[in-house]
Amino acid sequence: LGMPDVPTKLTDRRKSRQIHVGPVAVGGDAPVSVQSMTTTRTADIGSTLQQIAELTASGCQIVRVACPTQEDADALPTIARKSQIPVIADIHFQPKYVFAAIDAGCAAVRVNPGNIKQFDDKVREIAQAASAAGTPIRIGVNAGSLDKRLLKKYGKATPEALVESALWECSLFEEHGFRDIKISVKHNDPVVMINAYRQLAAQCDYPLHLGVTEAGPAFQGTIKSSVAFGALLAEGIGDTIRVSLSAPPAEECKVGISILESLGLRQRRLEIVSCPSCGRAQVDVYKLADEVTAGLDGMEVPLRVAVMGCVVNGPGEAREADLGVASGNGKGQIFVKGEVIKTVPESKIVETLIEEAMKIAEQMEKDGVAS
Ligand code: SF4
Repeated sequence: LGMPDVPTKLTDRRKSRQIHVGPVAVGGDAPVSVQSMTTTRTADIGSTLQQIAELTASGCQIVRVACPTQEDADALPTIARKSQIPVIADIHFQPKYVFAAIDAGCAAVRVNPGNIKQFDDKVREIAQAASAAGTPIRIGVNAGSLDKRLLKKYGKATPEALVESALWECSLFEEHGFRDIKISVKHNDPVVMINAYRQLAAQCDYPLHLGVTEAGPAFQGTIKSSVAFGALLAEGIGDTIRVSLSAPPAEECKVGISILESLGLRQRRLEIVSCPSCGRAQVDVYKLADEVTAGLDGMEVPLRVAVMGCVVNGPGEAREADLGVASGNGKGQIFVKGEVIKTVPESKIVETLIEEAMKIAEQMEKDGVAS
C-alpha cells in the first residue's frame, strides 16, 4: 500500500477581483498581506512616521492612519510620501477628508459611503475622484457602527446584517461604475465574523479584508484572530488581514505573519520547535527556548531550530530540523542537518546554537533561500 498524499495546501484561494493598494496587489492570485493601524495622532507627523517605520520593520505591508480632523488631513501628503509602505486614510463622515486623502496620494481610503449618503452627489464625486486617481476604497462595516436601519431590521449585528450593510455600501459606489473596492465586515465575536465573511465571500467577488474588531488584549486577541482567520483562510477566504490587539501595532503584525506562516500561506522564517518539557527534562527547556528565540530574533531565513529537553524525542526532532539540540546529563548534543556535530556543556548550548544558526543562515542566503 502506498502512503496517502500529504496535502501541501489547505484549499484554493477564493477567486476575487484584484485591486492595488499602492504597489501591493490585493485579491486575485496575490499573496495575503498583513495590515496594521497606527495609534499615534496622525497630525503628529514625526511620531506617525516613526511608528510606520517600526511597523515596516516588523513586516507590515499596508498601514492605516485615522483622519478625524483637518490637521490630520493636512498631515497626509507628507505621511503618504515618506511612508515606506502604502498608507490607507481612515475616514468617517467627512467627504472633504476623502478628497484630501486622494489628493495626498494615499494608496487607498477607508470610507463607508452610507455615512455620507446624505450628501448624495458626494458619493458620485468620490467615485469619480478615486477612479481618476486610481485610488481603491475599503468599505469597512463594523458591528459597533452598523446602520440603524439594519439594526432595526435584524435586531442586532448578525452576519446577514453585516453582509447586507456591506453590499448596500458597495452598491452606492457601483451606481457610479466604481468597483475598485475591498470590504471588511468586522465583529468582535469570531463565530459571527466567520459566518459574515463566508456569506460575503459567496455573494461578491471583491477582495476581503479580515478583522476581528475589538479583539481585546494581546493574549485574547491573538487567540480570537487566529481562530477566526484560520477558519476563513483555510477555506480560501481573505486577502488582507489585520489582527486588532490592545497592544503596540508591531505586535499585531507579528501575530498576523505567524498566522499566515502557520497555514502555509507564507514561507516560514525562523521556527523554533521546542518540547513542552516534562518530568524527564534534563534542562530548563523554557529558558533555553526563550534564549534561543531571543538570540535568533529577526532572522530572515526559513530556519527550523529544535530545542528538546531530553533524549527521548530530542534526537529525533533535532534531526528533522536544520539545527537542534537534544539535552541530557548536563550536556547538549548539537545537530546540524541530522548529524551530531558536537556535544557541549549545558552552559554553552545557547551560544553554540546561535553560532551554528548564523553559519547556516549565511549559507542559505548565499544559496538564495532567504524569504
Ligand atoms: Fe519530555 Fe523529553 Fe519530550 Fe521534552 S523531549 S517533552 S523533556 S520527553
